[in-house]
Amino acid sequence: MDFDALFNEQLTQLKDDGNYRYFAELERQCGKFPRAANHDEDGVRDVTVWCSNDYLGMGQHPKVIEAMCEAVERTGTGAGGTRNISGTNHDHLLLERELADLHGKEAALLFTSGYVSNWAALSTLGSRLQDCVILSDAGNHASMIEGIRHSRAKKVIWKHNDVHDLEMKLRCLPADVPKIVAFESVYSMDGDIAPIKEIVEVAEKYGAMTYLDEVHAVGMYGPRGGGVSEREGLADRITLIEGTLGKAYGVVGGYITGSAALCDFIRSFASGFIFTTALPPAVAAAARTSIAYLKESEIERAQQRRQVARLRAALDREGIPHMYNESHIVPVMIGDPVKTRMLADYLMREWDVYVQPINYPTVPKGTERLRFTPSPLHTDADIEHLINALRVLWKQCALAHAVA
Ligand code: PMP
Repeated sequence: MDFDALFNEQLTQLKDDGNYRYFAELERQCGKFPRAANHDEDGVRDVTVWCSNDYLGMGQHPKVIEAMCEAVERTGTGAGGTRNISGTNHDHLLLERELADLHGKEAALLFTSGYVSNWAALSTLGSRLQDCVILSDAGNHASMIEGIRHSRAKKVIWKHNDVHDLEMKLRCLPADVPKIVAFESVYSMDGDIAPIKEIVEVAEKYGAMTYLDEVHAVGMYGPRGGGVSEREGLADRITLIEGTLGKAYGVVGGYITGSAALCDFIRSFASGFIFTTALPPAVAAAARTSIAYLKESEIERAQQRRQVARLRAALDREGIPHMYNESHIVPVMIGDPVKTRMLADYLMREWDVYVQPINYPTVPKGTERLRFTPSPLHTDADIEHLINALRVLWKQCALAHAVA
């Protein structure tokens, strides 16, 4: 059988639909973020990165780099085993304590990524709690959806951020079955924020546990970077908070926090925790330094808010449509995959601006977009350069429209 022909058939379809994923070949340059070297067929040149999830530039922070280098010298490169078989290092446990403290919880549990933490935790809870029903926000991330699917628990999808719909669905379920309300705080593509208080109140009313993904919020919201749940004083009412070390903290890894019993339960049954090599201790040391730093420092968060506001104001002035939200994510809506790709290519080629086109299935068809994430390290001149580029682009698009 010609397997490559089978693969290529589907790949061609993806390309025809405009949904094939090309990626830029970037080379991050220490200390220069948000600049990076872009390798393409014309050679190597510096570009400004406008779509990084290293939201605060912590991936290049001298203290984080120093912590990682020190730990590599001290512990070597890898963990040497799964967490249960020789792979648990002192640095992992220190990091878990730091994370538990960040969210005011009894315990925390590390995973190799945020994706794995969602997948492992939800699949374990859903499969191990008898007759469990998981109520999942319609906008939830793929890692949560896959975890729920794998658990084979009954799944009920409620309308995105719609507390009334959630309550209607909770009301229909038997009182005595375990229920989990799974949702996110900051949704990554629209940048909208969940009404956490209302969701928690409804969940409490029906005796459901709450599962909150704060991947796009940890490090960035709350006085110590504990996420939107910290900012709103609600962390102690959320049963399980999940986060990543790979975005605002600038390293890699994922985690859950909650009661000691909850973390021990997932530690004991989750295959995504048990059967995989632990994170390198140096990664844990770097992440702990990043978390501890952002618990104290407000400078990065404040400067990021300023740059987000500046970009939004400039887009408004130019009449460039962007989705309004209260987070750091600035989606400029295009609504067509081929056009989105063309615009991104043009920005890279002509303006040395890198922003990845966001297409289906990451976002629904017809809502393709350019997603900008201003960081504290983008200068006012960077914003001006981006706006100049978009102004020219928008004029050309309007012209193309008029001729067509
Ligand atoms: N949850 C959400 C909401 C995400 O957007 C992502 C990744 N973009 C993840 C979880 C997975 O996190 P990680 O990148 O650490 O695997």
